[in-house]
Amino acid sequence: MSAKIIDGKYHSENILNEVRAEVADIVMQGGRPPCLAVVLVGDDEASKIYVGSKQKKCEEIGFTSVAHIKPSTISEDELLTLIDMLNNDSGVDGILVQSPLPKHINADNVFEAVAPGKDVDCFNPYNIGLVSMGKDGLVPCTPAGCVELLRREKINMSGADCVVIGRSNIVGRPAASLMIKESATVTVCHSRTKDLAAVVRGADIIIAAIGKKHFVTPDMVKDGAVIVDVGINRTPGSKKIHGDVDPACMEKASYMTPVPGGVGPMTIAMLMSNCLTAYKKLR
Ligand code: NAD
Repeated sequence: MSAKIIDGKYHSENILNEVRAEVADIVMQGGRPPCLAVVLVGDDEASKIYVGSKQKKCEEIGFTSVAHIKPSTISEDELLTLIDMLNNDSGVDGILVQSPLPKHINADNVFEAVAPGKDVDCFNPYNIGLVSMGKDGLVPCTPAGCVELLRREKINMSGADCVVIGRSNIVGRPAASLMIKESATVTVCHSRTKDLAAVVRGADIIIAAIGKKHFVTPDMVKDGAVIVDVGINRTPGSKKIHGDVDPACMEKASYMTPVPGGVGPMTIAMLMSNCLTAYKKLR
């Protein structure tokens, strides 16, 4: 068997086109376009690139965006004051605080300060609570991107045995919550899991979010399993990125997301979709 490749670029473009069409409609009816505020602290080159690409995406789909670029010396209080100002600005629908923040700032305090209705990254514990309860609303972008790929490929999630590898707050845990909402039977594996390979071998759907190049090998994969690879692993000195799943797993899986071009492009599409949701809820 050779897996069908799940084309994240194709699906993300479709989502962005859907958002773009809805925004065009809003504007045609005299509404203002949704606005995303991006907060960047410090000089991290990768963060600057991420923020730039999010702003470019906003422009492409008809959103407005404002960037608040602050020096790494900003105090936590000053940053919280900025967040408060954005929370109270009726012209701002979504607020994104780019990670990582400098060490002297408690990131949890900052993410908790973002108003839940504008929390387009879905990092606020209130929103994470809603996700755990299976409620509709803003969704954590990367895990929601994984589920959306499965949905758009019409892969049956109801009753499927899903193994999520990784229990981070950003990917693994919310991915498990979203798959429970889809009525999958979910097992979460992590660094202390006993005989992880045996657990993964039982999965109809594998979501790998570990951060270790080619961690999932063909011997861990049941014939016909569906694999969603969240990993982005860089080798020093090379621009190439690698997933958490050994590409040789293609021979065992029925569907598999590639790296790059799988989950990655979905994250930004889900961010834009969240910003539109926030806009509509705030109206
Ligand atoms: P993390 O480091 O916060 O969490 C990794 C998880 O993997 C932990 O829960 C840990 O228990 C588990 N783990 C580590 N070693 C393990 C082992 N030997 N056996 C079993 N479990 C193990 O990472 P994260 O933020 O969840 O990200 C995971 C991967 O996804 C990274 O490669 C990251 O770059 C990537 N990522 C991609 C996107 C995207 O847009 N595609 C977004 C976020 C993260």
